[in-house]
Amino acid sequence: MSRPKRDISGQKFNALTAVRPAGKDGEHQLWEFNCDCGRVYTARGSSVWSGSTQSCGCFRWRGPRARFLEKTQPEPNSGCLLWLGPTKDNGYGVCSFGFYKNGYAHRFAWEMARGPIPGGLFVLHRCDTRCCVNVDHLFLGTHAENMADMVAKGRGVRGERVKNAKLTRAAVEDIRSRYVAGVTSQVELARQYGVVPTTIGKIIRGERWT
Ligand SMILES: [Zn+2]
Ligand SMILES: [Zn+2]
Repeated sequence: MSRPKRDISGQKFNALTAVRPAGKDGEHQLWEFNCDCGRVYTARGSSVWSGSTQSCGCFRWRGPRARFLEKTQPEPNSGCLLWLGPTKDNGYGVCSFGFYKNGYAHRFAWEMARGPIPGGLFVLHRCDTRCCVNVDHLFLGTHAENMADMVAKGRGVRGERVKNAKLTRAAVEDIRSRYVAGVTSQVELARQYGVVPTTIGKIIRGERWT
C-alpha cells in the first residue's frame, strides 16, 4: 500500500482521532479514526481535516439527546425509562427531532445508543412497557419474533382458547405468511395465538379478515 500523502496519525480533528491509513476510496485516502464516543470509524482524511466530517455521526444526537431525556422519567421498581411525550393509540411513544420525524421513541432511543436499525427489523421490549425507552430493555427482532413476543406477553390472546378471539391485522398477516411459507402448522399457530384451530383455518382460507 502506498503511503498517504499526508500523515495525520495521532492527530485529532473534532471528535475524531486518526489511527491509521485504511486504504483508498478512488483517489481519496481513507483513515481509521477513534471517535470520542468510543466507536471506530473509517472516513476520507480530507473530509475530516477540512471539518466537513466531525464525528462518526454521533454529533447529530447531541442536541436531541438532552431534549429526549427531558421527556423521560425513570421508574425505579422496573428500571424502565418512561416516555412522557406523545404516544400513539397503540401505546408506543413518538417523537420528532429535526432529522427524525414522528418516529417511535423507543426506536429513536435505540438508534441514539446503538446505531442504525438494520432494515426490516423491529425494536422489541423485554419489559412489557410500550412507552419504555430504556435501551437495556430493548432488543432487535423480526416480524415473526415481534408477533410471538406479543403473544407471550398476553397482548394478543393467550391461555384458554377463545372461539371468537380477536386477532390484529398484523397477527393475521403473520399467520398467513408463515402458513404459506410452510414453516408451521395450523395447530401450532392456534396454540401460539391462543385461538381454536378452526379460526386459523378460516384466516388462511380468507374467510375472516380478508
Ligand atoms: Zn462518535
Ligand atoms: Zn422497560
